[in-house]
Amino acid sequence: MRLFFALWPAPGTAAALALWAAKAQRETGGRAARAEAIHLTLAFLGETEDARLSAAIDAARSVRCAPHALPIEQARHWKRQSIVWVGPNETPAPLVALAADLKSALMRAGFAIEARPFEAHVTLIRKARAPRALPPLPVLDWPVDEFLLVRSTLSNEGSSYTILERFPLGA
Ligand code: ATP
Ligand code: MG
Repeated sequence: MRLFFALWPAPGTAAALALWAAKAQRETGGRAARAEAIHLTLAFLGETEDARLSAAIDAARSVRCAPHALPIEQARHWKRQSIVWVGPNETPAPLVALAADLKSALMRAGFAIEARPFEAHVTLIRKARAPRALPPLPVLDWPVDEFLLVRSTLSNEGSSYTILERFPLGA
């Protein structure tokens, strides 16, 4: 199975982001994310044997993090990746720690995780050209009180995601 850990927005926030992405897509072309597919990736496991699933879950359960909020403050086009993403101006400290602790726990459990420093971003448009300007972002509420283990199934219509496990954040 193809697995990753992620934060998922509440349906109202996802809908608002999808609406913004549809507007921005008029400037950039490409493919805007469907509301139900919008997420922030914390750690990417990739192709994983079924037998290793419980090890990934145990590793994630060992991670402690206080609930916090993810501010969506900026929208950017990345030329090299041809994507438009939104995210905070600066990754909140608890989120930096969450991603780092999760990656360490996964590495200790024997998973090969990329060491690139974590930069919180939510990809909203793929194959995006550089825009003249992006529309202003709406005010959004994205509380971070859990993270998820998600299975990605690739098909011609793009990836679809199934939540396998939820990990609530404690105070
Ligand atoms: P699609 O591949 O159909 O465009 P997707 O990229 O969202 O959709 P996946 O490729 O399964 O679907 O990836 C799931 C998540 O993991 C996405 O957020 C993606 O950006 C991220 N991801 C994919 N590959 C890597 C990688 N090698 N390193 C880090 N994150 C990755
Ligand atoms: Mg992909």
